[in-house]
Amino acid sequence: MWKKPAVVSAALALALLAALLAPRLGGASPDSGADSLSAAFGGAPKLPLALSLRKSRATKTLYRSGRSLAFPQSWTTVIFEGTEGDANLVYEFSKRLPDGSWSPWVSAEIHLFKNGRFWGRARLPEGDGALRFQIMDGGIKGAAPVFLSDIEVYDAQAQSAAAESLPAHPGPPEPILPPLIHTRKEWRAKPTRNPYVPMPSPWRITIHHTAGPQTMNLKDTLREVRFIQDFQQNGRGWDDIGYHFLIDGAGNIIEGRPVNVVGSHVKGNNDGNIGIAMMGYFSPPVNDHLTAAQEAALVALIRYLHARYGIAIAEVKGHRDYERTECPGDNVYNLLPDIRKLAAAPPPPEKPIVIKRPPLVIKLQNPGALRWDGRAISAP
Ligand SMILES: [Zn+2]
Repeated sequence: MWKKPAVVSAALALALLAALLAPRLGGASPDSGADSLSAAFGGAPKLPLALSLRKSRATKTLYRSGRSLAFPQSWTTVIFEGTEGDANLVYEFSKRLPDGSWSPWVSAEIHLFKNGRFWGRARLPEGDGALRFQIMDGGIKGAAPVFLSDIEVYDAQAQSAAAESLPAHPGPPEPILPPLIHTRKEWRAKPTRNPYVPMPSPWRITIHHTAGPQTMNLKDTLREVRFIQDFQQNGRGWDDIGYHFLIDGAGNIIEGRPVNVVGSHVKGNNDGNIGIAMMGYFSPPVNDHLTAAQEAALVALIRYLHARYGIAIAEVKGHRDYERTECPGDNVYNLLPDIRKLAAAPPPPEKPIVIKRPPLVIKLQNPGALRWDGRAISAP
């Protein structure tokens, strides 16, 4: 079992980033080409980072980070995501060069959604150097809260060519009705950017968290799913959203990538693997907990996939069972034994709806006289 390092920081980001590292399936999948690494800082800041920035007369530099630790491999691109309270913040990055100097500051492009969710990206010179960043006042109104959940780097050029074998684990399909699943059409998904790789016989399930907001209603959820697709398609350069399903705090199940195609959610282990992301941030410092509805929806979905594809319950795992990552967060991971048990058991019998009210007593004065005349009941 992996132990949390003292500097956790962006380990959380591995939830999403892992898929970036995923080897191509027989070279056919155009997804997840580049290796990606989370930025870790020796001292400040620890990610995720919550800032309340204020306009200052003295300076345009509202925040400047320390330097990150060096990276074990070369990178060219930094991506980050979070939530911000003012669209006029400018994020700038600089990279330590081989001669020990720092590159000029580079402004990141920002993709901002109306609800304040954003991701950004900046390109820097090649090399494995550390990074630092600053947040500049580009014309903010006054107070500007910022929540940075994740900073990662990757080499946009590097491609991983390792192929994955595709073991066949066909199971006996049983007839079972799927739970209600909100379709891609409902969240106005963009089409995949390249053809999918078919996955006719999924044989395992991996549980993640989105490390984002735990949305509690369908409207917010669909917008957040659109955001995640935008980040993964346009920020990370994947073909499509990496997960097959997402489940919000209200228990809504959302279709991500179609269930019968290879996803992009566990490094090197995407074949036959259905990715289910619990929406929320189930680790410190946010420490969301699954709502009862969210957990029930997960159990129902696993029970369905188990019956539909014959996926062994023992093959329902957390992302951290495959690689070093905080995902899906302690507050989800610790429930997985219970969730497996519940999903393996038959569904609870549907209880009849009992409406309690006083007995209705109708006393008819002259029952024989009642008749239906086609328009109204009348008693002559
Ligand atoms: Zn994950």
